[in-house]
This record gives sequence, structure tokens and C-alpha cells, in this order.
Amino acid sequence: MDGLLTVSDDGLYCPAGDFHIDPHRPVQRAVVTHAHGDHAARGSEHYLTSAEGEGVLRHRMLDGASIQTLSYGETLDINGVTVSLHPAGHIRGSAQVRLEHGGEVWVVTGDYKVAADRTCTPFELVECDVFITECTFGLPIYRWPDPADVFEKINRWWKKNQEEGKTSVLFGYSLGKAQRLIAGVDPSIGPIYCHGAVQKMNAVYREDGVDLPPTTYVSDENALDDWSEALVVAPSSAGGSRWMQRFDPVSTGFASGWMRIRGNKRRRSLDRGFVLSDHLDWPNLNAVIDGTGAETIYVTHGNNDSFARWLNEEKGLDARELPLRSQYDG
Ligand SMILES: [Zn+2]
Ligand SMILES: [Zn+2]
Repeated sequence: MDGLLTVSDDGLYCPAGDFHIDPHRPVQRAVVTHAHGDHAARGSEHYLTSAEGEGVLRHRMLDGASIQTLSYGETLDINGVTVSLHPAGHIRGSAQVRLEHGGEVWVVTGDYKVAADRTCTPFELVECDVFITECTFGLPIYRWPDPADVFEKINRWWKKNQEEGKTSVLFGYSLGKAQRLIAGVDPSIGPIYCHGAVQKMNAVYREDGVDLPPTTYVSDENALDDWSEALVVAPSSAGGSRWMQRFDPVSTGFASGWMRIRGNKRRRSLDRGFVLSDHLDWPNLNAVIDGTGAETIYVTHGNNDSFARWLNEEKGLDARELPLRSQYDG
């Protein structure tokens, strides 16, 4: 890959502007699409992120980190490269990075989704020549149901557990997914309790003005004799841990795009899988790629080989795999 962006040992690099995008190691100047760990590494000299994303990024970086912000759509000249950030709709503050230089426009999506989520600004389609996109769910089997229907299912599961005297423990990524879940369930059903990792991020979202229903931190002081009325929101890493024992008997649920595949629920010994992703599904991924008008596409974060081949063969685009390390936060 060469041109406005190249791949360095630290990640995506813009030679003309002398900055990195989502470097996985500390650098001089990092433009950060969002605060998830696989995109925002600690220790860089300077960060540039969206104004909406400052709170969450600051929470995740070292104390005193130098963070400059741009409102969505605002432009900044970095060594002659015009840089702007545009909503990605993935989590609070998530941004696509638009670069313009020498008459060419490149866009780097970071992670993104188009589905409704009132905890962050909705995705905006940005036209470009070269589009660098995640394709976490770049297979035709990945089609998402309407999120409103998924929340109805979660509400019904919670009520049924109350009737059966079981604690409802709902797993989801602690930054982004958890807040989307809390914002989307019906809080009149019962109290919402959160694992510490989730409760911390709730506080950052609330400071940002996101309206979340009341939540209580799961601690010894706040312990209940009977948890069966409660919905407990926790990162999936808490599953099977000693922390979970206090909630017995439980019903466990997991909200993720990976729950589209039935075997994943069984493999994780979950009682329920809710198909709710912070990434876009197959039809939307294809629609966005078409909408950008880009003729050159780099894909990352998924089944890159097969998705690049699909874009080449079915759409006649110049599509390639971006040779970067990637992780999956589903
Ligand atoms: Zn992410
Ligand atoms: Zn990611």
C-alpha cells in the first residue's frame, strides 16, 4: 500500500502529514478513530480525536495525555494534509478520518455501524477515492435484526427471569455496547446493576450528557439478598468468574453480532444470545462501500481475503487486504 497512507511498524501512517492513524504503539502524533483498545494505544506524544470522543479517550489514556479535538466536519491542516473527522456511529465519539491531499480523498472508517444508537452521533456517509474499511462482519450470513426488536427480546427475557427467580446477567463490551444496552432496555422492569468496568464508562457517558437510566455499582455495600429483580450488565470476561457466584441462580445473555451464529452461544455456555452489534452487517457494509463512490478499497478487521475477493469479482473494485494486525470487539 502506498500513496497518502502507508503501513509502518506502528500501524497506518501518513507520510505527507507525518502522523499515524490508530497506531498500535506509541508515536509522535496519533489520530484516533475511537477509544477501544485495538485502536487507541497509550503513550503517544499527541492525540487528535473527535470532540465527542475526548471524554472516553481521556479516561483510557495516561493522566495528562495531550489530546486535541475536532468537531465532526471541522478541518485541520497537518503539514499540508487536510484532516477532518466524521461520525462513525460505533461508540461515543467514534470517527471516520477523512484526508485530502493533492486532489485525492481517502477515508479510514475505524469501526462503524449504521444501526440506531442514541448514545452516539449517527454514521455519516463520506464520499472518497480510497476507502479503508473494517469488515468484521463481511459475510452474507451476517444480517442484523431491527435493534428495537432485539431490545424487546431482552426486556421479555428479563421479565421471565424475574418470574422464575433468576438474576438476569447481560454481557457486552464495557465501553459502548454496555451503555447502548442500558440506554435501550426498559428501566421500569427493575433495577439495573453494573460491573465496575461498565459503571466507570457509564459515568463518562453521563458526564457527556448521554441520558442513561440509573445504574448501581455491584459491590459488597450494595449487595442484595435477592438479585432476581435486577438486570446486571457486565463485560463477558466476568462470565464464569467468582464475581458471578453472588447472583445464583442466573440466566446469562450476551449481546453481540457473533450471536448470529448459534454455535457461539453454546460454546460460551450462555442461556441467551442477542444479535446486537456495534459493527455494520453485510447488506449495510456493501451499501456504504457503494455509497462512497470509492474505486480503491482496503479491508481490515475481518475475513479480509474473502471480502476483498468479493469486492473485486462482484463489484469490479480494486480491493485489497490491509496488512494490519486486527482484533475483534464484535
Ligand atoms: Zn471498536
Ligand atoms: Zn476495532
